[in-house]
Formats: sequence, C-alpha cells, structure tokens
Amino acid sequence: MLGTEDTFHQEGMAVKKIGALEAGGTKMVLAVYDETMNELDRISLPTEDPSVTVPKMKAYFDGHQVDALGVGSFGPLDLNPASPTYGNITSTPKLKWRDYPLLRELLAGRNIPAAIDTDVNAAVIAEMELGVARGCENAVYMTIGTGIGGGVAVHGKTVHGLLHPEAGHILLQPHPEDPNPRGVCPYHAGCLEGLAAGPAIGARIGGDASLLPDDHPTFEIEAYYLAQMCMNLTLTFSPEKIILGGGVMNRKSLFPMVRQKTLELLGGYIQVDRVINHMEEYIVPPMLYPLSGLIGSYLLGKRALDGD
Ligand code: ZN
Repeated sequence: MLGTEDTFHQEGMAVKKIGALEAGGTKMVLAVYDETMNELDRISLPTEDPSVTVPKMKAYFDGHQVDALGVGSFGPLDLNPASPTYGNITSTPKLKWRDYPLLRELLAGRNIPAAIDTDVNAAVIAEMELGVARGCENAVYMTIGTGIGGGVAVHGKTVHGLLHPEAGHILLQPHPEDPNPRGVCPYHAGCLEGLAAGPAIGARIGGDASLLPDDHPTFEIEAYYLAQMCMNLTLTFSPEKIILGGGVMNRKSLFPMVRQKTLELLGGYIQVDRVINHMEEYIVPPMLYPLSGLIGSYLLGKRALDGD
C-alpha cells in the first residue's frame, strides 16, 4: 500500500504521519505511514554504534515531521512508563547499546505521542490485528533467527510486568544425540536460544546449516527443541496460536516436524480440538513476515496518537 506524502484530507487538513522503527541488532527499519497504514516511505540502516545510527534515525523522523512514533526494539528494554529509564535498552550484550536511552534520544526536542515495546511484542500485536492471529485474544510470536525472542499478548495486550517475556532463554531438556547439549548462550547452559537459534545449529554441525538438506539429522534435533518450546508456551500462556517466524523458520519443513513432536510431548494432556486435530492452525508461520515487527511498531505509534 503506497501512498503519496502530500496526501490531504478533503477538508484540507494535512494527514497525520506516524513513524515506525523496527530496531534490530543488525539493521534498523524505519518507515512513515499515514493514519490508515498507507506506507509513505521506508528505509533501512545498518545498526552501528548509537552515536552513528541514532542521529540518522532522528533526522529521518524529524525530516518527515511525524506526529507520533512507535518503536519495536531488540532488548531487554525498560517498559515501565513510571520508570525514569523508560524506553531504555538495558542489559544487552551489544555493549555500546547497553543502558542506552533509545526512546528519549529519538524524541529529543519533540513533544509527540510515542510508544515502545519489544520487537516481538510488536510482531504479535501486528499478527493479531492484521495477520494470522486475527480474532485471537491470546497469542505468542516466537522469532527463531540469530537469537530467539518471544512476544506474548494476553487479552489483546502485550505482557510486560516484571520486565517482559524473555522466552528465548527458557531451559530445555537436551536431545540424547545432541553433540553440544550445553548450547552456545553465554548466560545459560541448556537454554532455548543457546540450543536452537541459528548460531547453535551452525555450532552443532560446524558449518552453514542453510546448505543442509531438509532430512539432515540436525533438523530432527532442532524440531525437538522447538517442540519443547511450543509445549512450554502452550502450558504457560494458553495461547490460541503460536506463531513461529525468523530466518530459521524459512525452512518450512520444520513446521510439520515441530507440530508432530509437540503433540507427542504433550502426551494427550491438552484435550482441545485445535491442538489434537488442527495443529496446522495452531503452530503457524506469520502472515506479515518479514514486516510483522515494523507493522506492529506502526500500530504502537497509531495507538499512542489515538491516546490508547
Ligand atoms: Zn540463554
């Protein structure tokens, strides 16, 4: 949906513009939308030091004179609006971004409505409002790529609380044939990200997993870990859909394996029709990928503009 930047309402009022930022560890995607989600412009920038990247992002949004801003960012983030460090990136391993006041720097000198959430929380609200989880009250979005992150929405709202869900680091049982059951997470032995993110697969096979055929045994191990994840999410959050995105899930042959193993692990304990008979409607790819996070960031900005 492409519009033009000089669109005007019939009564001659300038259309309100909403800035959206999906802040990732390797790239930043920035866009400007009107209030009906027509995309007016979009760019992407490499994620360098904040002293380099943030002034460029601020200049972009200031130059487009956005009326509101929504940010979906890598984390962990401070999402407590009452906190003096609200909108800061906190304990990230990306040292230059640690304790960085992302939202405050983007808004410096401008008084506009704004909201920030994790990139995966942004993705889950986008999929619930416009994508594969339309009509769901509760859903989980997991991204399985260079890391693993999880966004959770309950009764239509993303979960914050103590911090925000960090489901990428839940502990799993090792696969009996995994040659590296400790995994590669620097923080935890045997956590999901350390066992099942892209770098974990690469470490397990000592090379580039994207070159392997679908029937390579490493994907059986991968599916086992992702199925444990889906079982734990099912039992913990009772979502109506589990959405699996990210680069690793571009290998579509993983989906049937993960569904089958999740059913096996659940052991008949969850007697719900969707899980027993329609697993293909329960564990699903995102509909808006790769724009789920960006569209979710737009929705955050739109809600801030509307005062929601
Ligand atoms: Zn971990």
